[in-house]
Amino acid sequence: MTREEKIEALKEFSDLCDQARACITGEPYRHTEIEISLAEEKPVAIGSADLQQLSSMVLSCQRCRLCQGRNHAVVGEGAMHPLLMVIGEGPGADEDATGRPFVGRSGQFLDSWLSPIGLSRQKNVYIANIVKCRPPQNRTPLPDEVELCVPYVKRQVQLVRPQAILLSGATAAHAMLGRVEGVGRLREQTFQLDGIPTVVTYHPAGVLRNPTLKRDVWNDIKRIAGILRLPILRGR
Ligand code: SF4
Repeated sequence: MTREEKIEALKEFSDLCDQARACITGEPYRHTEIEISLAEEKPVAIGSADLQQLSSMVLSCQRCRLCQGRNHAVVGEGAMHPLLMVIGEGPGADEDATGRPFVGRSGQFLDSWLSPIGLSRQKNVYIANIVKCRPPQNRTPLPDEVELCVPYVKRQVQLVRPQAILLSGATAAHAMLGRVEGVGRLREQTFQLDGIPTVVTYHPAGVLRNPTLKRDVWNDIKRIAGILRLPILRGR
């Protein structure tokens, strides 16, 4: 409830009291003007927001220019305290239209990577992006846009508390790890983010454009399976 809604509710309550007084005493109804002063609500900092507050902040966010072209900001979705959190770059056209992350062709492709090790966003995966609003023409988010938006996903990591993280694509890897090497180099090692084992792989959109990367992605997914001690249900 906003501060204004609280003031309105208190005024309505006061008027109900006036009406009740008139009913009980038989005296004519008289409206009492009341002065209400509620303390200004302090804005919640991203670093101390809960998931619901974070979601509200993202949906109304105007921290960077990407808010101007969005239809929907895309917060993220999936299981709480999941086995895996996947972090991608930003919403595309389908995500902007629906407000959901990784839908459309890239999303289906990502799902097909995860299912052979028993992972799905319905059961045990949470999915989010570095920037929450779609960049125009799906361009790569600019450094200032990433800098302004990345605190949201960093807070999501703290709140969602996954057992492992998969950074999908260079934008996610660079923003979360503070590194500048290409994905080909970064995917060679397992990092720790807030003490959570973290693997870098290619973005599904990039692999759709260059299918020769599929083998590398499958090796990265198998590494995730090893970290989480998950059986590989079927090979690819
Ligand atoms: S991209 Fe992020 S920082 Fe920019 S307006 Fe959207 S939510 Fe805010």
